[in-house]
Amino acid sequence: MVLNDADAMQLALAEADLAAAAGEVPVGAVVVKDGKVIASGRNAPVDGHDPTAHAEIVALRAAAQVLGNYRLDGCEMFVTLEPCTMCSGAMLHARLQRVVFGAADPKTGAAGSVLNVFAHPQLNHQTQVQGGVMAEECAQLLQDFFQHRRAAQRQARHVLREDALRTPEGRFTDLGDFSWTTHYINDLPALAGLRMAYVDEGPQAAGLTYVCLHSKTGWGYQYRQMLAPLLSAGHRVLVPDLVGFGRSDKPKKEAQHSLDWHGRILREWMQHLALHHVVLVVQAADPLGQALLTAMPEVFHGLLVLQPASAHEADNAPFPDLGHRAAPRAWARRAAEQGAAAATGISHEKMRQLACPPGSQAAQQAAIYLT
Ligand SMILES: [Zn+2]
Repeated sequence: MVLNDADAMQLALAEADLAAAAGEVPVGAVVVKDGKVIASGRNAPVDGHDPTAHAEIVALRAAAQVLGNYRLDGCEMFVTLEPCTMCSGAMLHARLQRVVFGAADPKTGAAGSVLNVFAHPQLNHQTQVQGGVMAEECAQLLQDFFQHRRAAQRQARHVLREDALRTPEGRFTDLGDFSWTTHYINDLPALAGLRMAYVDEGPQAAGLTYVCLHSKTGWGYQYRQMLAPLLSAGHRVLVPDLVGFGRSDKPKKEAQHSLDWHGRILREWMQHLALHHVVLVVQAADPLGQALLTAMPEVFHGLLVLQPASAHEADNAPFPDLGHRAAPRAWARRAAEQGAAAATGISHEKMRQLACPPGSQAAQQAAIYLT
């Protein structure tokens, strides 16, 4: 039986499938002579630690062994992806009669996409090139591969560190009034792979951005009733769960929860989001809030100090057991060590100076929704 182009490309696709199964970028190739496959190859640079192990090179080497000749006169190459410069050059050296490829490669293709090695009369006297045979199938295979790989990488980025806990999602499902989308970040240097959760609602271009810090025993849920009125007033509202609280990862060691560390995380997070014109909202005087105001005054437009909300049963949802409570334990111990006055740090007068004007809409909303 003599193979037609589609049959030969189908065999190259089967090689590409095998490459994908081995975790390599799925590109496959076969060499055909007199209508019969004499050699095949699949992409394998990762497995072989070999930058030249492209499907075409592998297939060329195998074909040359079969023929006992480095010149592959009268042979045709079928490859699922447009060859790169290296492979195109090798094909010219092998004096292939014809090259047929499937999908074009707009990034590194050297058979017409980026450049065309085969179109130089000084280099090439005999090799014909044809592209686009079963192009859709060939491209789909590559797309699927990269899509799966990206999904796997996303998954890997959210792997929980061994020295941390993550509250099961089921603890949050029965809570009312809190259907905001949770965003996660874990690629800030200070987080060192831990995952921090936050709510980010409202337009990015809003005139004011409210950053709401929860109390030292609670989590972002404390702001559930303040979000809607602030959003309807056109503001952007961000509510982080500090690391160790809420949906954020919870390091088990109390010593991890230094004020300095939490301050660095929040600064990096705010810089990452490129926030400006920020109104900082804190529950009572808060050394973490004070540290932020001092470290990046240019970012802040105002400060809103709320009456501490009465403890809500749902505050306990993020802490299924004592093991999850390293962060609140650490905060409580530090407050006790420093004494209440020192822990406050910032005077009420100073806070008033920074605060939103009394009677402002935001202050009224805060008074309504958090007392
Ligand atoms: Zn190549």
